Amino acid sequence: MIKLNGLEVSKKLREALKQSIATWANENNRPPGLSVILVGEDPASQVYVAHKEKACAQVGIQSEVIKMSGVSTFTEIEARINKLNESPNVDGILVQLPLPKHLDQRKILELISPKKDPDGLTMENIGLFYGGIHRVKSCTPNGVMEILKHYEINVEGKTAVVIGRSQIVGLPMFNLLQQAGATVTLCHSKTKNLQEHTTKADIVVAAAGQPEFLGRNDFKKDAVVIDVGIHRKEVAGKNKLVGDVKYSELDGHVKAATPVPGGVGPMTITMLLQNTFDLACSE
Ligand code: NDP
Repeated sequence: MIKLNGLEVSKKLREALKQSIATWANENNRPPGLSVILVGEDPASQVYVAHKEKACAQVGIQSEVIKMSGVSTFTEIEARINKLNESPNVDGILVQLPLPKHLDQRKILELISPKKDPDGLTMENIGLFYGGIHRVKSCTPNGVMEILKHYEINVEGKTAVVIGRSQIVGLPMFNLLQQAGATVTLCHSKTKNLQEHTTKADIVVAAAGQPEFLGRNDFKKDAVVIDVGIHRKEVAGKNKLVGDVKYSELDGHVKAATPVPGGVGPMTITMLLQNTFDLACSE
Protein backbone atom coordinates (compact mmCIF):
# COMPACT_ATOMS: atom_id res chain seq x y z
CA MET A 1 0.00 0.00 0.00
CA ILE A 2 1.25 3.47 -0.86
CA LYS A 3 1.22 5.85 2.08
CA LEU A 4 -0.11 9.16 0.77
CA ASN A 5 2.18 11.38 2.79
CA GLY A 6 0.46 14.73 3.10
CA LEU A 7 3.23 16.02 5.32
CA GLU A 8 5.79 15.51 2.54
CA VAL A 9 3.52 17.00 -0.13
CA SER A 10 2.85 19.92 2.14
CA LYS A 11 6.59 20.52 2.73
CA LYS A 12 7.24 20.52 -1.00
CA LEU A 13 4.41 22.94 -1.74
CA ARG A 14 5.40 25.27 1.11
CA GLU A 15 8.99 25.38 -0.15
CA ALA A 16 7.82 26.41 -3.64
CA LEU A 17 5.40 28.91 -2.13
CA LYS A 18 8.17 30.44 -0.03
CA GLN A 19 10.22 31.12 -3.17
CA SER A 20 7.28 32.70 -5.03
CA ILE A 21 6.38 34.83 -2.00
CA ALA A 22 9.96 36.09 -1.66
CA THR A 23 9.93 37.25 -5.30
CA TRP A 24 6.49 38.86 -4.89
CA ALA A 25 7.50 40.62 -1.66
CA ASN A 26 10.55 42.03 -3.41
CA GLU A 27 8.53 43.36 -6.29
CA ASN A 28 5.77 44.79 -4.07
CA ASN A 29 7.93 46.08 -1.22
CA ARG A 30 5.87 44.20 1.34
CA PRO A 31 5.02 40.61 2.26
CA PRO A 32 1.51 39.23 1.69
CA GLY A 33 -0.60 39.76 4.83
CA LEU A 34 -3.10 37.53 6.62
CA SER A 35 -5.19 38.72 9.57
CA VAL A 36 -6.90 36.17 11.76
CA ILE A 37 -9.74 37.20 14.05
CA LEU A 38 -10.13 35.00 17.09
CA VAL A 39 -13.25 35.66 19.14
CA GLY A 40 -13.25 34.09 22.60
CA GLU A 41 -10.92 31.53 24.13
CA ASP A 42 -11.87 28.19 22.66
CA PRO A 43 -8.74 26.04 23.33
CA ALA A 44 -8.89 24.12 20.02
CA SER A 45 -9.27 27.38 18.07
CA GLN A 46 -6.25 28.83 19.88
CA VAL A 47 -4.16 25.83 18.82
CA TYR A 48 -5.34 26.08 15.18
CA VAL A 49 -4.60 29.80 15.08
CA ALA A 50 -1.11 29.26 16.52
CA HIS A 51 -0.46 26.66 13.77
CA LYS A 52 -1.58 29.14 11.12
CA GLU A 53 0.71 31.86 12.51
CA LYS A 54 3.66 29.50 12.49
CA ALA A 55 2.95 28.34 8.95
CA CYS A 56 2.65 31.93 7.72
CA ALA A 57 6.03 32.78 9.22
CA GLN A 58 7.56 29.72 7.51
CA VAL A 59 6.63 30.88 4.01
CA GLY A 60 7.00 34.65 4.50
CA ILE A 61 3.39 35.74 4.97
CA GLN A 62 2.97 38.53 7.52
CA SER A 63 0.27 37.37 9.92
CA GLU A 64 -1.46 39.03 12.82
CA VAL A 65 -3.92 37.52 15.25
CA ILE A 66 -6.62 39.87 16.48
CA LYS A 67 -7.92 38.48 19.74
CA MET A 68 -11.39 39.68 20.65
CA SER A 69 -13.36 39.02 23.78
CA GLY A 70 -15.89 36.16 23.76
CA VAL A 71 -18.67 38.66 24.45
CA SER A 72 -17.80 40.91 21.46
CA THR A 73 -20.84 42.24 19.62
CA PHE A 74 -21.56 42.02 15.90
CA THR A 75 -20.90 45.76 15.61
CA GLU A 76 -17.49 45.49 17.26
CA ILE A 77 -16.44 42.67 14.94
CA GLU A 78 -17.86 44.54 11.95
CA ALA A 79 -15.68 47.56 12.77
CA ARG A 80 -12.53 45.39 12.92
CA ILE A 81 -13.30 43.60 9.67
CA ASN A 82 -14.12 46.87 7.88
CA LYS A 83 -10.70 48.24 8.84
CA LEU A 84 -8.98 45.13 7.52
CA ASN A 85 -11.02 45.25 4.30
CA GLU A 86 -9.60 48.71 3.71
CA SER A 87 -5.99 48.01 4.73
CA PRO A 88 -3.62 47.82 1.71
CA ASN A 89 -1.30 45.49 3.64
CA VAL A 90 -3.93 42.84 4.32
CA ASP A 91 -4.61 40.29 1.56
CA GLY A 92 -6.52 37.72 3.58
CA ILE A 93 -8.95 37.94 6.49
CA LEU A 94 -9.92 34.84 8.36
CA VAL A 95 -12.49 34.55 11.12
CA GLN A 96 -11.65 31.49 13.19
CA LEU A 97 -14.67 29.21 13.53
CA PRO A 98 -16.66 28.26 15.49
CA LEU A 99 -17.82 31.65 16.78
CA PRO A 100 -19.46 32.05 20.19
CA LYS A 101 -23.14 31.12 20.03
CA HIS A 102 -24.53 34.66 20.31
CA LEU A 103 -22.97 35.60 16.95
CA ASP A 104 -24.50 34.81 13.55
CA GLN A 105 -21.68 33.04 11.68
CA ARG A 106 -23.10 33.67 8.21
CA LYS A 107 -23.58 37.40 8.85
CA ILE A 108 -20.02 37.74 10.20
CA LEU A 109 -18.47 35.88 7.26
CA GLU A 110 -20.34 38.12 4.82
CA LEU A 111 -18.52 41.14 6.29
CA ILE A 112 -15.25 39.93 4.76
CA SER A 113 -14.49 41.34 1.33
CA PRO A 114 -14.70 38.35 -1.08
CA LYS A 115 -11.38 39.54 -2.51
CA LYS A 116 -9.79 38.99 0.92
CA ASP A 117 -11.49 35.68 1.77
CA PRO A 118 -8.84 32.91 1.68
CA ASP A 119 -11.21 30.34 3.21
CA GLY A 120 -13.65 30.93 0.36
CA LEU A 121 -16.58 31.12 2.77
CA THR A 122 -18.34 34.29 1.58
CA MET A 123 -21.44 33.66 -0.52
CA GLU A 124 -19.79 35.29 -3.55
CA ASN A 125 -16.82 32.94 -3.39
CA ILE A 126 -19.04 29.91 -2.71
CA GLY A 127 -21.06 30.85 -5.81
CA LEU A 128 -17.92 31.22 -7.94
CA PHE A 129 -16.58 27.92 -6.64
CA TYR A 130 -19.69 25.93 -7.57
CA GLY A 131 -19.88 27.79 -10.87
CA GLY A 132 -16.43 26.45 -11.69
CA ILE A 133 -14.77 29.89 -11.67
CA HIS A 134 -12.47 29.56 -8.70
CA ARG A 135 -11.27 32.69 -6.94
CA VAL A 136 -10.16 30.36 -4.15
CA LYS A 137 -10.79 26.65 -3.64
CA SER A 138 -11.92 25.26 -0.27
CA CYS A 139 -8.77 24.49 1.68
CA THR A 140 -9.24 20.90 2.88
CA PRO A 141 -10.78 19.49 -0.34
CA ASN A 142 -8.19 21.29 -2.42
CA GLY A 143 -5.51 19.77 -0.20
CA VAL A 144 -6.95 16.34 -1.04
CA MET A 145 -6.81 17.15 -4.77
CA GLU A 146 -3.16 18.22 -4.40
CA ILE A 147 -2.29 14.92 -2.70
CA LEU A 148 -3.96 12.99 -5.55
CA LYS A 149 -2.09 15.12 -8.10
CA HIS A 150 1.25 14.64 -6.36
CA TYR A 151 0.87 10.86 -6.40
CA GLU A 152 -0.37 10.97 -10.02
CA ILE A 153 -3.69 9.39 -9.09
CA ASN A 154 -5.91 10.15 -12.04
CA VAL A 155 -9.45 11.05 -11.09
CA GLU A 156 -11.04 11.38 -14.52
CA GLY A 157 -13.44 8.56 -15.29
CA LYS A 158 -13.08 7.07 -11.78
CA THR A 159 -15.91 6.41 -9.36
CA ALA A 160 -15.62 8.29 -6.07
CA VAL A 161 -17.60 8.26 -2.86
CA VAL A 162 -17.47 11.23 -0.50
CA ILE A 163 -18.80 10.57 3.00
CA GLY A 164 -20.03 13.79 4.59
CA ARG A 165 -21.83 16.81 3.15
CA SER A 166 -20.59 19.70 5.30
CA GLN A 167 -20.02 23.12 3.73
CA ILE A 168 -16.29 23.04 4.49
CA VAL A 169 -15.37 19.47 3.53
CA GLY A 170 -17.93 17.09 2.01
CA LEU A 171 -19.78 19.34 -0.42
CA PRO A 172 -16.75 21.16 -1.86
CA MET A 173 -14.94 17.80 -2.08
CA PHE A 174 -17.83 16.46 -4.14
CA ASN A 175 -17.59 19.53 -6.35
CA LEU A 176 -13.83 19.33 -6.98
CA LEU A 177 -13.96 15.62 -7.74
CA GLN A 178 -16.82 16.00 -10.21
CA GLN A 179 -15.10 18.97 -11.83
CA ALA A 180 -12.02 16.78 -12.24
CA GLY A 181 -14.10 14.22 -14.15
CA ALA A 182 -14.96 11.64 -11.49
CA THR A 183 -18.42 10.12 -11.13
CA VAL A 184 -19.17 11.03 -7.55
CA THR A 185 -21.64 9.73 -4.98
CA LEU A 186 -22.21 11.88 -1.92
CA CYS A 187 -23.09 9.91 1.22
CA HIS A 188 -24.20 11.21 4.62
CA SER A 189 -25.87 10.12 7.82
CA LYS A 190 -29.15 9.34 6.04
CA THR A 191 -27.48 7.14 3.42
CA LYS A 192 -28.79 3.58 3.58
CA ASN A 193 -26.19 0.82 3.44
CA LEU A 194 -23.09 2.97 3.19
CA GLN A 195 -20.89 -0.05 2.59
CA GLU A 196 -22.73 -0.86 -0.62
CA HIS A 197 -21.49 2.48 -1.98
CA THR A 198 -17.97 2.52 -0.55
CA THR A 199 -17.09 -1.00 -1.69
CA LYS A 200 -17.78 -0.06 -5.31
CA ALA A 201 -15.69 3.13 -5.38
CA ASP A 202 -12.23 3.63 -6.86
CA ILE A 203 -11.69 6.56 -4.51
CA VAL A 204 -13.29 7.03 -1.07
CA VAL A 205 -13.01 10.30 0.85
CA ALA A 206 -14.09 9.83 4.47
CA ALA A 207 -15.20 13.05 6.17
CA ALA A 208 -17.96 11.88 8.49
CA GLY A 209 -16.28 12.83 11.74
CA GLN A 210 -16.76 9.30 13.16
CA PRO A 211 -13.62 7.87 14.79
CA GLU A 212 -12.32 4.75 13.01
CA PHE A 213 -15.75 3.76 11.72
CA LEU A 214 -14.46 2.37 8.42
CA GLY A 215 -12.19 -0.66 8.03
CA ARG A 216 -10.71 -2.97 5.41
CA ASN A 217 -14.06 -4.51 4.43
CA ASP A 218 -15.51 -1.12 3.55
CA PHE A 219 -13.23 -0.71 0.55
CA LYS A 220 -12.74 -2.60 -2.66
CA LYS A 221 -9.36 -4.08 -3.48
CA ASP A 222 -6.96 -1.43 -4.84
CA ALA A 223 -9.14 1.50 -3.81
CA VAL A 224 -7.63 4.87 -2.90
CA VAL A 225 -8.67 5.94 0.60
CA ILE A 226 -8.52 9.54 1.77
CA ASP A 227 -9.18 10.07 5.46
CA VAL A 228 -10.15 13.64 6.39
CA GLY A 229 -11.32 12.83 9.93
CA ILE A 230 -9.30 13.98 12.94
CA HIS A 231 -10.14 12.68 16.41
CA ARG A 232 -8.30 12.57 19.70
CA LYS A 233 -8.23 9.16 21.34
CA GLU A 234 -6.67 8.17 24.62
CA VAL A 235 -4.46 5.12 24.29
CA ALA A 236 -2.60 3.92 27.40
CA GLY A 237 -2.88 7.34 29.01
CA LYS A 238 -1.53 9.11 25.91
CA ASN A 239 -3.39 11.33 23.48
CA LYS A 240 -3.35 9.89 19.98
CA LEU A 241 -4.85 11.23 16.75
CA VAL A 242 -7.00 8.90 14.68
CA GLY A 243 -9.11 9.36 11.57
CA ASP A 244 -12.43 8.03 10.30
CA VAL A 245 -10.62 4.95 8.96
CA LYS A 246 -8.73 2.12 10.68
CA TYR A 247 -5.53 2.78 8.74
CA SER A 248 -3.69 -0.25 10.15
CA GLU A 249 -6.22 -2.61 8.53
CA LEU A 250 -5.68 -1.32 4.99
CA ASP A 251 -2.23 -2.62 4.07
CA GLY A 252 -2.32 -5.42 1.51
CA HIS A 253 -5.84 -4.54 0.44
CA VAL A 254 -6.17 -0.96 -0.81
CA LYS A 255 -3.79 0.67 -3.29
CA ALA A 256 -3.09 3.88 -1.35
CA ALA A 257 -4.28 5.70 1.75
CA THR A 258 -3.64 8.82 3.80
CA PRO A 259 -2.57 8.25 7.42
CA VAL A 260 -3.79 10.29 10.40
CA PRO A 261 -1.79 12.24 11.44
CA GLY A 262 0.37 13.25 8.48
CA GLY A 263 -2.22 12.91 5.71
CA VAL A 264 -4.81 15.52 4.86
CA GLY A 265 -4.29 17.61 8.02
CA PRO A 266 -1.07 19.44 7.02
CA MET A 267 -2.49 20.19 3.57
CA THR A 268 -5.35 22.32 4.89
CA ILE A 269 -3.09 25.07 6.23
CA THR A 270 -0.85 24.84 3.17
CA MET A 271 -3.86 25.55 0.96
CA LEU A 272 -4.78 28.50 3.20
CA LEU A 273 -1.29 29.92 2.63
CA GLN A 274 -1.63 29.32 -1.11
CA ASN A 275 -5.04 31.00 -1.22
CA THR A 276 -3.74 34.03 0.71
CA PHE A 277 -0.89 34.39 -1.74
CA ASP A 278 -3.22 33.95 -4.75
CA LEU A 279 -5.43 36.75 -3.39
CA ALA A 280 -2.36 38.99 -2.94
CA CYS A 281 -1.37 38.30 -6.56
CA SER A 282 -4.84 38.99 -7.93
CA GLU A 283 -5.04 42.55 -6.55
P1 NDP B 1 -19.51 17.80 10.12
O1 NDP B 1 -19.87 17.23 11.45
O2 NDP B 1 -19.89 19.19 9.79
O3 NDP B 1 -20.10 16.86 8.98
C1 NDP B 1 -20.05 15.47 9.07
C2 NDP B 1 -20.79 14.87 7.88
O4 NDP B 1 -20.69 13.47 7.96
C3 NDP B 1 -22.28 15.22 7.83
O5 NDP B 1 -22.64 15.52 6.51
C4 NDP B 1 -22.96 13.94 8.33
O6 NDP B 1 -24.21 13.69 7.71
C5 NDP B 1 -21.97 12.87 7.88
N1 NDP B 1 -22.01 11.70 8.73
C6 NDP B 1 -21.93 11.65 10.09
N2 NDP B 1 -21.99 10.38 10.50
C7 NDP B 1 -22.10 9.60 9.41
C8 NDP B 1 -22.20 8.21 9.20
N3 NDP B 1 -22.19 7.33 10.23
N4 NDP B 1 -22.29 7.76 7.95
C9 NDP B 1 -22.29 8.62 6.90
N5 NDP B 1 -22.19 9.95 7.04
C10 NDP B 1 -22.09 10.43 8.28
O7 NDP B 1 -17.93 17.60 10.00
P2 NDP B 1 -16.84 18.32 9.05
O8 NDP B 1 -17.18 18.11 7.64
O9 NDP B 1 -16.58 19.68 9.55
O10 NDP B 1 -15.56 17.44 9.43
C11 NDP B 1 -15.52 16.04 9.19
C12 NDP B 1 -14.27 15.47 9.83
O11 NDP B 1 -13.13 16.05 9.22
C13 NDP B 1 -14.12 15.77 11.33
O12 NDP B 1 -13.48 14.67 11.93
C14 NDP B 1 -13.20 16.98 11.37
O13 NDP B 1 -12.46 17.04 12.56
C15 NDP B 1 -12.31 16.69 10.19
N6 NDP B 1 -11.72 17.86 9.56
C16 NDP B 1 -10.42 17.75 9.21
C17 NDP B 1 -9.78 18.77 8.57
C18 NDP B 1 -8.38 18.60 8.18
O14 NDP B 1 -7.69 19.57 7.98
N7 NDP B 1 -7.91 17.35 8.04
C19 NDP B 1 -10.46 20.04 8.27
C20 NDP B 1 -11.88 20.02 8.60
C21 NDP B 1 -12.46 18.96 9.24
P3 NDP B 1 -25.51 14.66 7.89
O15 NDP B 1 -25.24 15.84 7.01
O16 NDP B 1 -26.63 13.84 7.42
O17 NDP B 1 -25.55 15.03 9.35
